[in-house]
Amino acid sequence: MRAAVFLEAHAPLAIEEVKLLPPGPQDVVVRVTATALCQTDVSVRAGKYDYGAPMVMGHEACGVVEAVGSAVTRLKPGDRVISSTAPCCGVCANCAAGRPNICVLGLAVRKPLRARRADGSLATGLYGLGSFAEQMCVHEASLIAIHTALPDAQLALIGCGVTTGLGAVLNRTDLKPGGSLAAIGCGAVGLAAIQGARIAGAEIVIGIDPRAERRADALRLGASAVIDPQTENVAARVRDLTGGLGADACIDAVGLPATARQAYDLTRQAGSVIVVGLPPRGETFTFDAWQFFLSEKRFSSSLFGSADIRRDFPKYVSFAEEGRLDLGGLVSRIITLDQVNEGLDALAAGEVIRAVIVHGAATN
Ligand SMILES: [Zn+2]
Ligand SMILES: [Zn+2]
Repeated sequence: MRAAVFLEAHAPLAIEEVKLLPPGPQDVVVRVTATALCQTDVSVRAGKYDYGAPMVMGHEACGVVEAVGSAVTRLKPGDRVISSTAPCCGVCANCAAGRPNICVLGLAVRKPLRARRADGSLATGLYGLGSFAEQMCVHEASLIAIHTALPDAQLALIGCGVTTGLGAVLNRTDLKPGGSLAAIGCGAVGLAAIQGARIAGAEIVIGIDPRAERRADALRLGASAVIDPQTENVAARVRDLTGGLGADACIDAVGLPATARQAYDLTRQAGSVIVVGLPPRGETFTFDAWQFFLSEKRFSSSLFGSADIRRDFPKYVSFAEEGRLDLGGLVSRIITLDQVNEGLDALAAGEVIRAVIVHGAATN
């Protein structure tokens, strides 16, 4: 089969013929029908995170089960599935405590070697997935079966970006009907957070992004106001929009010390500050300890939308079917596997919200 393989940082992914290794007892072979390009793929290619090499890239996908290992019980051939960046075993202490997004299998599923290259070397899959390929072999805990007529290109987005943004709002804040939310960064994750705020009933939904196209997208997908941080006083605008109080919740979809601090400053007393963007290693968040104590603000991260994928993937599919979640509005471009590097370039340049690789058999 063909796959896009990461070999070294700062170089294009190599489109290669590779051979998938046989599934282990708990593994599932999936025919990938659609897979979206995420900022993490851009960051890995750019050397920002080192997950090893060679590695089949891609981690936001949907597909159809082709074969299952001898111990697989939750899936069968023919099932339509969405892959998950974080696995959910359902029985470990974290899963049992209602926090399956930090399932203890999280690191273990990334280790298995999944594909043999022409030179005999063996490749892993990004996050245990490796969806920039015609097939992938993954642990059954990384898949959720879904039943819907929605197109593959839209369903793929639930596998990472949409769940990260939507889940952060619905699972990590206590946003109430009539409430207010500000999202810093209006890429796919921020735009999903904006839609999540609308689903939660928020009335004041603010998108903050220096890119005019992303601010337009934010307004199109549910923001009631947008702010250009390059030309406007963000703190003053948010105060004006929220009756002088600050936002009930602020999502930092960027994850830099400066944006996390901005999110903290924009949040009202007793509000929720949620860092969703992945910060660089070694950075430090700073805010005044005295002010923090008096504020009763909650400052936390949200890993993969703090999602319970067994509950949330079907729920987000329902939101989309009901017209409350616009997944199609996040798909800017449909591409082929051969165009993956151009797609990553376009994502890095901010030209697209999501470019999605759709294979021939997809329903789009
Ligand atoms: Zn991702
Ligand atoms: Zn678990």
